[in-house]
Amino acid sequence: MPELAEVELARRIWEPGHGQEVIAVESHPATRVYRDTPADEIRTHLTCKMIVDSRAHGKRLLFGFSDSLANSPANGPVTYLEVHLGMSGRLFLADPRYCPDKHDHFVLKTKHLSLVYSDYRQFGRVYLHEQNHKPWEALPLEVLHPKFTLAYLRKLTARRRGASLKALLLDQSIFPGIGNWMADEICWRLLRFPGTPLQELDLAAIRRVGRQVCRGALRHVADKNSPRDGTKGFSPGSYVEQVPPRSWLFQHRWKAGGTCPRCRTALERSTIATRTTAWCPHCQPMT
Ligand SMILES: [Zn+2]
Repeated sequence: MPELAEVELARRIWEPGHGQEVIAVESHPATRVYRDTPADEIRTHLTCKMIVDSRAHGKRLLFGFSDSLANSPANGPVTYLEVHLGMSGRLFLADPRYCPDKHDHFVLKTKHLSLVYSDYRQFGRVYLHEQNHKPWEALPLEVLHPKFTLAYLRKLTARRRGASLKALLLDQSIFPGIGNWMADEICWRLLRFPGTPLQELDLAAIRRVGRQVCRGALRHVADKNSPRDGTKGFSPGSYVEQVPPRSWLFQHRWKAGGTCPRCRTALERSTIATRTTAWCPHCQPMT
């Protein structure tokens, strides 16, 4: 499932649509991606609106639409469309005359572009927020937000002292946008076994390394793969050409015979906090 940097990359792929009026919405209404808002309702709300904003928050992707072209975009969006990429969701840009294929469940057409959401497994979702609702107002602080302080983290985790490091890192109400690969990377950099309970760990180090990995992921995944010709696509497994360097665990964790980039010990894998987890038994011994 895409994590924070992949979601930010997806946001940038549709960014050329900003400032353009939606002249048509094409959809495959029977697909599961419309399980929250019916496709017809989305079409009614977005046709003739202008795309004026987009935000990535953790694993959430939000696109803001102003009420009409008569209203200046400076008035801000009144409707937000939320897109979850699920396991196989993919955003891309295409020609305005693009003819959607069977997996392209949602297409916003402007005079100059087609903004396409494709999802062959349909675990993703496309839905509307209520008019004038600002969806991020109730969301937890992002890990790189200046107010994501040690005191804030201490407060959030006060009742979770017995939880494992991996479970804590995957908790979207604490670390929005951190998923399986980033959590493994953080545990590996902390030199701690992912199943270690929080009470045995230094919260300041978790915060520091967590932020380091978020910044690095954005640099290596979002910045280095941002589309230059406006036509690049996005799909898990093949969405990026540039990946984090070989000094990251990322490059080794699923490889057959993968070894720790720090000490070359063979990596181990098991299920921790319900997710398949890779770690180095030498650098991250079980306590
Ligand atoms: Zn190692």
